[in-house]
Amino acid sequence: MKLVEELEEKIRKSAQLILDAKVVVAFTGAGISTESGLKDFRGDYGLWKKFDPYYYANYRVFLERPKLYWTMVKEERYGRDKKVEPNPAHLALAELEVMNRLDCIITQNVDGLHQIAGNKKVIEIHGSSRTSHCMKCKREFSYGEIAAKLELDEITPTCNDCRGVLKSDTVLFGEPLPVEPFNEALWWAESADLMLVIGSSLTVFPAAELPKRVIQRGKKAILINLTETPFDADFDLIFYEKAGKILPFFVKEVRKEIGHTKEQL
Ligand SMILES: [Zn+2]
Repeated sequence: MKLVEELEEKIRKSAQLILDAKVVVAFTGAGISTESGLKDFRGDYGLWKKFDPYYYANYRVFLERPKLYWTMVKEERYGRDKKVEPNPAHLALAELEVMNRLDCIITQNVDGLHQIAGNKKVIEIHGSSRTSHCMKCKREFSYGEIAAKLELDEITPTCNDCRGVLKSDTVLFGEPLPVEPFNEALWWAESADLMLVIGSSLTVFPAAELPKRVIQRGKKAILINLTETPFDADFDLIFYEKAGKILPFFVKEVRKEIGHTKEQL
């Protein structure tokens, strides 16, 4: 078989798995957002060489010197080439949800791009960079409020009410995961008949436990990732491709089938 035909065949099989499953869950990682211009800090990127995230985004370091974290955030923000927006991979997942072929997204990302793309059911197991909280009085601040503070050269943003230090709701290295989202994600991993693993190398735990649970239960799993993962032998179908290239084809195939069914009725 030619390469293109092989790929088409795999896309058809994937669409069939999506159509056959009762509960479909997507599990996404940094790889889905790099196509939107967000840099994966595991990749080779200048900023992360200057600011080692394992140090600058470390929970213990933050508690001692929050200024370091916020300096990194500010530089990252101004270092971007353009506005970060959902890419075709995010939009395809949003479309699958609209077609009732995707029940939930579990994401390791903190960028909020799934919600911007239109997905309603998104579980952020590593928190969110869109909000911050005062560490003293727990008041919430939006990303816009934080950006304004950074703009005003407030190097460590503080609370308007009590001057407490603000912490992004992003889970930092060494910080415990928020319990509720992870438990909810676990529930979905126990319920899924099919998991689409997208843009994750499955090396971060306990996040990687979630696809593992689906596989261990003998359910179906599809991987779309540029590189190999430790669980590749267990996936039903694997695409070492960009998600933005593959997922729109899944949507196209699924729509074709749903269309057929409607005509038959
Ligand atoms: Zn406060």
